[in-house]
Amino acid sequence: MAAGLLVVLSGPSGVGKGTVCRQLFQLRPSLQLSLSLTTRPPRPEEKDGRDYEFTSPSRFQKLISGDAFLEWAVVYGHYYGTLKETVEANLDRGIDLLLEIDVQGALQVRRRLEEAVLVFLAPPSMEALRSRIAGRGTEDAVHLNRRLKAARQELSAYHLYDYLVINDGVEDAAASISAIIEAEKCKVKRGARPPAPGGEKR
Ligand code: 5GP
Repeated sequence: MAAGLLVVLSGPSGVGKGTVCRQLFQLRPSLQLSLSLTTRPPRPEEKDGRDYEFTSPSRFQKLISGDAFLEWAVVYGHYYGTLKETVEANLDRGIDLLLEIDVQGALQVRRRLEEAVLVFLAPPSMEALRSRIAGRGTEDAVHLNRRLKAARQELSAYHLYDYLVINDGVEDAAASISAIIEAEKCKVKRGARPPAPGGEKR
C-alpha cells in the first residue's frame, strides 16, 4: 500500500483556512485533518478532541522534552504542535493527512519530511483580510493589529511553499487544493504505478 500524502496548509489568520478546509473535506472525504495540541484556551464554539486537543503548558513542555512533536511553535503566545506518532501512524496506513499549521511549523515539517506538500493560502488583498478578521468579532483593536502584522510576516514566506492558492472564493480555493492533491498522488516519483503486465484475458 502506498503511504498517505502529507499536505500542509498555512496562511495568515483570517484568510479562511477553516472554511476552505471544510469545503476541501467535502470534495475529498478520505482526507483527514490532523488534530493539533494547543495550550490556548478553547473558544466558546470549540470542542476538545474535535478542533484541538487542549492541553496544559506543563504537559506540552513534557512532550517537547520527549521529542514527541513532528513540529511545534508558539503562535500569539500559545503553544501549538503536531504529534509525530499520529502523523506516522496515519501515513503508514495510507491515509492522506492535512496539517493546518503556521509557517514556523510548516518549515519544520519540510525539514523532517521532504515529501510533504506545502500549500500556502493567501487572501486576495490585505483589505479583504482586515475585514474578515474584524468581521469575526473575536479580536479587539490591539489583537487585530497584532494579527495583521503577523499576517504580513507570514505572507512573505509564501515562496518557501510548493503551491500558492489565492482565496478569492471558497469553492475555487478548495477545488485548487484538491487538484494539487490529485496531481501529487499521480506523481510517478511518489510511487504511482500502472498495472503489472500480464493477467489480461485473451
Ligand atoms: P487559532 O488559535 O486561531 O486556531 O490558530 C492560530 C494559528 O495556529 C493558525 O495560524 C494555525 O494554523 C496555527 N496552528 C494550529 N495548529 C497548529 C500546530 O499544530 N502547529 C503549528 N505550528 N501551528 C498551528
